[in-house]
Amino acid sequence: MVRNRFAPSPTGNVHVGSLRTALYNYLFAKKMEGVFLLRLEDTDQTRFEDGAVENLLNALNITGVIPDEGLIKTGDEVVQKGDVGPYIQSQRLDIYQKHLKTLLDNGQAYYCFCTKERLEEVREAQKAAGETPKYDGHCRELSPDEVQTKIKAGIPYVIRLKLPENHVIRFEDGVRGTIEMNTNDLDDQVLLKTDGFPTYHLAVVIDDHLMGITHVIRGEEWLPSTPKHVYLYQCFGWEAPQFVHLSNILNADHKKLSKRQGDVSVGDFLAKGYLPGALVNYLALLGWSPEDEQEIFSMDELIQAFDLSRVNKSGAVFDRSKLNWMNAHYIKELPIATLVEKLVPFLIEAGYLHSEEIESRNDWLEKIGELLRDRIEYFAQAKEELALIFKSDFVVNDEEALELLRADSTKCLYRALVEKITATEVLDAARGKAILKEIQKEEKIKGKLLYMPSRIMITGEMHGPDLTLIMDVLGKDEILTRLNGVRS
Ligand code: GLU
Repeated sequence: MVRNRFAPSPTGNVHVGSLRTALYNYLFAKKMEGVFLLRLEDTDQTRFEDGAVENLLNALNITGVIPDEGLIKTGDEVVQKGDVGPYIQSQRLDIYQKHLKTLLDNGQAYYCFCTKERLEEVREAQKAAGETPKYDGHCRELSPDEVQTKIKAGIPYVIRLKLPENHVIRFEDGVRGTIEMNTNDLDDQVLLKTDGFPTYHLAVVIDDHLMGITHVIRGEEWLPSTPKHVYLYQCFGWEAPQFVHLSNILNADHKKLSKRQGDVSVGDFLAKGYLPGALVNYLALLGWSPEDEQEIFSMDELIQAFDLSRVNKSGAVFDRSKLNWMNAHYIKELPIATLVEKLVPFLIEAGYLHSEEIESRNDWLEKIGELLRDRIEYFAQAKEELALIFKSDFVVNDEEALELLRADSTKCLYRALVEKITATEVLDAARGKAILKEIQKEEKIKGKLLYMPSRIMITGEMHGPDLTLIMDVLGKDEILTRLNGVRS
């Protein structure tokens, strides 16, 4: 049975690239009716950030990329579920120690007492000689007695992997094919740090094996480390899993997607009002392509269509406008009640709504929702879009707009609008539409001379949402106030 995992380090916000890695694991596990588990890789204690685990599990829950096993958040509770835990690496230190001992006993690992200063000197000398810096093997051949003496003397140490010389390590990558690396080009990797914690490299191999992982699907930044992992599997006499390294997500300049170019974390996107389903849909297609041209996928459809063999080898450019297009599509499809529910926090934040008014203004909210549905790509745009409508103290400066206001027909239009709206009991979209029709017929004002000046008098803008929807949203009194303002 397929068992795969997402193995993040809790270092702050969840990058969209991490969510994509989690998603591909999830889709593959579901497609194969396997198990997707979450393991927390927290052995680098210096990188740990408060709240990071919560953030991570929330992001997965909201986007529906939910683990079957391992670390899981249900309600407010974070639990570990499964038979091969613990699923938090810092709770597995005795397991790593035990396996490390096997490597030491077999002569496949060794103690290294080199100081930081010495390592630095070696590195500088190698660089100066034009060589690629790597550990020079200074402690490789220390005798057991020498090692014991140094340990007793309290000299800090690390434990390193003892790679054989001139040995070719080979493995198959699901996306990149056969990968080969000569150990002469590899460092004797540190396996245990001075603080007694394993490095990622030791822990990942032991955990993936003990947790029965069959497929390791992860970012390409781990590809250069994989030969060392494969060698470790050989040392332990274990079968290595199938590796699949996903290409990076890139910026438009083809560099790795980074914070400097704008939003990169799942939290950033959700806070701007991107819909989780749209984000998942977009990320699924960023590095994988279905057999046909379909672009809009539900999670179930993704599971059906997903195929590891169609994962791209080249890096995919994160295209914000494509994401916006997709999100806009999802917004258009939302039932009005859901659309309103998503919109409300943004209206409150923008000061257009108080939280205690949500229920009493539901009709009004539905009108706003319909007005915005085709005009926003993500919900944070609502503020700016509505400012056009709600800004009552506008000043018209645009020359073309002023000219339209000065037109003779506009004077008639103004009088007719005021008269008809005053005589109307409730100004809704239908009544607004009827009034404009009547004016067209009675005053013979039409097209640009009808709609543009009306809009300018009501909103100060020449372009914007449908005028009758604006009338509907603002209502009779506000429209009359504005019309009076124009002439005063
Ligand atoms: N802890 C690693 C990370 O933060 C996981 C790499 C892997 O999946 O092996 O990305």
